[in-house]
Amino acid sequence: MSKTVELDWENLGFSYIKTDYRYLSYWKNGKWDDGTLTEDNKVHISEGSTALHYGQTVFEGMKAYRTKDGGINLFRPDQNAERMQRSCSRLLMPTIPTSVFIDAVKQVVKANEAYIPPYGTDGSLYLRPYMIGIGDNIGVKPASEYLFSIFCIPVGSYFKGGLIPTNFLISDYDRAAGNGTGAAKVGGNYGGSLLPGSEAHKRNFSDAIYLDPITHTKIEEVGSANFFGITKDHKFITPYSPSILPSITKYSLLYLAKERLGLEVEESDVYVDELDQFAEAGACGTAAVISPIGGIQYKEDFHVFYSETEVGPITQKLYNELTGIQYGEVPAPEGWIVKV
Ligand SMILES: *Cc1c(COP(=O)(O)O)cnc(C)c1O
Repeated sequence: MSKTVELDWENLGFSYIKTDYRYLSYWKNGKWDDGTLTEDNKVHISEGSTALHYGQTVFEGMKAYRTKDGGINLFRPDQNAERMQRSCSRLLMPTIPTSVFIDAVKQVVKANEAYIPPYGTDGSLYLRPYMIGIGDNIGVKPASEYLFSIFCIPVGSYFKGGLIPTNFLISDYDRAAGNGTGAAKVGGNYGGSLLPGSEAHKRNFSDAIYLDPITHTKIEEVGSANFFGITKDHKFITPYSPSILPSITKYSLLYLAKERLGLEVEESDVYVDELDQFAEAGACGTAAVISPIGGIQYKEDFHVFYSETEVGPITQKLYNELTGIQYGEVPAPEGWIVKV
């Protein structure tokens, strides 16, 4: 490593830091160019870009980890590539082949290697791939040109000194429509979640929980993370619905719950008036890995799971197993780790 950067590794949060290089590739006349790394962190696009007016924008979130032996791990990058392809198809955007996507991720990680938090600090290099419709447009139709980019920032562990449960509020708002864009990682889903999130914060909850948009009886998403619960008889249950964003963390936990912890696992409806069946519950996603759910407020009722102050034992085991794999301390299932 030629360059070194001095950052307060132990106290990194989750905020924008300008790193040295980002990857840019443009789609024009029906094809992608070769893609390059640049130092300029400003994007110059037409005022007519569909991304600005009509939300033709998709993104991904993933991490690179410094391992004990000094290597660099990517966690299931093929899954991010494939999900981005599905998101792009939903918004009539061109797709990036998986091999090109992974190669671009590796280029960005290598070029910014000095920013990867050292092993043992529980930090990681967060990567943000995104694609936007650009070019001179104004009518409501797919853009004539696209930009695919990946930038990265060093981030800290969400929980310093151990997992701490927080409380959530069942929102009256819907995050996504029944047959809308809920399963695609598109910018618009997030814009719409800002108000429900801020109303939950004002009432001292961590975030809003969204029910299914058709019947409003079943849990779908916890803020911008997926929900899982551990029943009193040790079953890992996570909801299934076409309007949930399929979390790679969630499917990884489901696999580990079954194969490593020996739990029964199930994707099935989680009715908001049947929370008593759960001994533990959590929210999962790349950013925080797992956020234990202390309690859930639904109308006048407050339901506590394991504890409002302590993480449950199975949630903790799942967290240790998954983060152990990501940092190269625990053997990974076939194909989960890609070395940079
Ligand atoms: C990205 C995202 C998640 C988490 O997915 P991971 O692949 O685990 O990071 C969950 N819900 C929403 C709405 C998301 O956008």
